[in-house]
Amino acid sequence: MQDMKTEMGCLDPWLEDGNIVITVQEKHFRVHRSVLCFYSDVFRDMFAVSHPCDNEEEMMDGCPVVRLQDAVADVEIMLKALYDRSYIFLPGTHMPISVLSAFLRMGKKYVIRQLFKEAERMLSFGTSPLVQLSAISAAGNVILFPRLSGADPFNFMVMNLASEVGLLSITVIAGFYCCVACPALSIVDGYEYNGVRYDLSAGNKRLCFLVQRYIAEVERQLFQCLAFPAHNCVYGSSSRSPCCSGLLSNLRSIQCLKCPFTQWMNTWDDGLCVSCRAVLRKKHEGARMRLWKNLPVDLDLGRWESLDAEMT
Ligand SMILES: [Zn+2]
Repeated sequence: MQDMKTEMGCLDPWLEDGNIVITVQEKHFRVHRSVLCFYSDVFRDMFAVSHPCDNEEEMMDGCPVVRLQDAVADVEIMLKALYDRSYIFLPGTHMPISVLSAFLRMGKKYVIRQLFKEAERMLSFGTSPLVQLSAISAAGNVILFPRLSGADPFNFMVMNLASEVGLLSITVIAGFYCCVACPALSIVDGYEYNGVRYDLSAGNKRLCFLVQRYIAEVERQLFQCLAFPAHNCVYGSSSRSPCCSGLLSNLRSIQCLKCPFTQWMNTWDDGLCVSCRAVLRKKHEGARMRLWKNLPVDLDLGRWESLDAEMT
């Protein structure tokens, strides 16, 4: 019996008392109309338009068939999550990228808030994206999404998924990460990792191009904050002021860091007088905050706060 079901393309969950068959690319799941309606108004509306007494209706095992246009894996993961709580992620555990993809896509399309939110939590950055951006450097030593497993090293898959389902702040930060940590040619041509090819969507390539341009502006403006001693430098504004050579070595240190949104480092204080330390630190932090706030605005996406509008 089990073998026959497998041959017919029946997958788990296949429940003997189910009253509806969900069919995706000739794979079938037998589930309960009421359970899907409980989680999703989209399913409720979809089932409402199919009439049980309609002779034209496609049947399987005595149940009406509802066809979905999704990936089999996404539907299977969604149904297993709703039915047998297969995918529970406690703190400290990782969510596989396949589950993330199913939760985001199915959660968005069928408005199953629990799945979408659970996946979104796995990608969250905490309080401020700036903290995340500040740590990203060309050294590639930041794991951008520590609660995910199976993602590619430059997070192309996450970036594509995030933009597909409208998680724009995650898209921007993933794009920023690509621009800093990933070779430019891989952004344009894609790259191979463990025998699998990864490519950004055309929209995300464009976004990376704009982010790249913005990063050049960030570097230019933050560099400028450290180009000259403060107006009240205790050594005066002469080019022979010891603060000038202190600033020069700070600029060299910034160049080596290759970390566009880097915070003021305590070692930068060493070659500066008391006034330069106070004034330039403040100036640098002000410019950094302003440039961070303006990043999504410059990309024509609006302010950070409005990027991830509530899913409707
Ligand atoms: Zn000074």
